[in-house]
Amino acid sequence: MLALPTLLGLCTLGPACAQPTDGRVTKYLQAAGLCPVGEPCAMTDEKRKALEATIKSTEQWTPVPVKVQPGSGGTPPSDAIVLFDGRNLDAWVSANDHTPAGWLVKDKVLTVVKSAGNIETRQSFKNYQLHLEWRIPQDITGEGQGRGNSGLFLASTAAGDAGYEIQILDSWDNVTYVNGQAASIYKQAAPLVNACLPPGQWQSYDVVWTAPIFAADGSTQSPGYVTVLQNGVLVQNHTPLAGETVYMGKPFYVPYERAPIKLQAHGDPSAPISFRNIWVRELQGPS
Ligand code: MG
Repeated sequence: MLALPTLLGLCTLGPACAQPTDGRVTKYLQAAGLCPVGEPCAMTDEKRKALEATIKSTEQWTPVPVKVQPGSGGTPPSDAIVLFDGRNLDAWVSANDHTPAGWLVKDKVLTVVKSAGNIETRQSFKNYQLHLEWRIPQDITGEGQGRGNSGLFLASTAAGDAGYEIQILDSWDNVTYVNGQAASIYKQAAPLVNACLPPGQWQSYDVVWTAPIFAADGSTQSPGYVTVLQNGVLVQNHTPLAGETVYMGKPFYVPYERAPIKLQAHGDPSAPISFRNIWVRELQGPS
């Protein structure tokens, strides 16, 4: 048991810690309701125990957070599910027919094959933290939505482009509608800032996705929320989603429980983009 002055942070740990005489203990006793304000206040064993109990009552000791070894030099944290580490596409399938994913893996880099369509993870997720790196080709051509277009679908709720899309696009020097530029929630929310790097450089998305919650009757109890850092810069801050991404009209929710994560093979004629270092950590969320 620490001496009370040490417990209160009034003394550093050491061989001797005398009772401070500057009135700070009295103030603690008064704050804890153990002495009336403005009157002399003598410490007793009973008050000491009551004060210690008051201090301890706001300490939480369990549950103890699980230890996770953070990644370093581009490696994922120890508890991450690796979705792509440069070796193969075993964690992915075609989003349309669930056959093996037909994108190109070469030199530890994953490149979109537009004719093969969207790909999605074999595994389904609910709430998670995700890391993904993407690169627009240095010699990219085109303009607007036709310049390095891809996308990260936070939940692939059906085939095609169904789900919630965080836009991937060359927005370094390329004008388009702001809720369709890189790091937008497509057609819903522009990014807070444009944190894009030039074509040819690797860029990162770090995403925290809190999935929407649906009632038994299919109504939406809570919207989905997404936080995104692009290249370490906050671009979406716990932004609520109005529903699934739609190209035309207003977003709407379709109830789901768990869903794959999807990457987009966009049909524009510009050169295909590439990905690397994709991992996810499942999170407990509200329920
Ligand atoms: Mg897109």
